[in-house]
Amino acid sequence: MDKLTEFLIKPFVEDLGAIKDHRITYAKEFVRNCPNCENMIVYKHYSNYRKGIRKNKVCQSCVTEIVADKMRGRTLSKKHIEKMRNYMLSLGDRNPAKNHNTRKILSEKASLRIGNRNPRFGCKLTKKHKDILRKANLGKIHSNDTKQKLSKIVKQWNANLSSDIKQKYIEKATRGWIESKFGISYDEYLRTHPKFVLYKNKVWKETRKQPVHSLNNHDKRGRAGIINAYQLDHKISMFDGFHKNISPETIGNIKNLRMIPWKENISKGSKSIYE
Ligand SMILES: [Zn+2]
Repeated sequence: MDKLTEFLIKPFVEDLGAIKDHRITYAKEFVRNCPNCENMIVYKHYSNYRKGIRKNKVCQSCVTEIVADKMRGRTLSKKHIEKMRNYMLSLGDRNPAKNHNTRKILSEKASLRIGNRNPRFGCKLTKKHKDILRKANLGKIHSNDTKQKLSKIVKQWNANLSSDIKQKYIEKATRGWIESKFGISYDEYLRTHPKFVLYKNKVWKETRKQPVHSLNNHDKRGRAGIINAYQLDHKISMFDGFHKNISPETIGNIKNLRMIPWKENISKGSKSIYE
């Protein structure tokens, strides 16, 4: 290769390496700008390029935006949806939405759309809708894969949240659980349920937060009936605490806890021990 040819070809080869654009391999390409966003539109065929000029066509991403704007707040007719569904079914494996790359692009786009451009943002499901979903999922068992995914999500969730916010979520879950179990509202449950049961729940909630493993004989903790098994005991009993208006936090505190043999625990009953 003589020096002149080298000089002429080199920059082109370098460009080719840098751009790595498949379009360069085409001998012919026709370029015009989008009248809406002024981005470059590249045509492979002259006839399409002419058509674009004649009809003053916008680029594909502008078309998508315009259509989305038009459709915002509207719903498709059932007939139309049926037609679209049949078309997608007829595609089968050729369905572009099932393509791995497409899914990746879509999820990236969706993450950008979080906020008011996402039509579902901030929307709440109606009770009717929730019931439909609940019935659809009734009796279904998660596969091991799904279980693993879910536990991963929960672990991430646990790691990222402050304890205050976690507490709020837990309370919300408790409300939901009680409402679905008893079929009454949480306020009504608090009003109608025996006060002593609620008090005991609060004491146990506090007790679970305490460092009970530091108590003597904690390593022998076990069920009633097992030889040498010890049980956790509230020195001032929950019964006395309830009737003498002592706060559940005091009764559940580590200072009021001890480990005693299960037989002793049963014979003690609702009595208190004052040391
Ligand atoms: Zn455009």
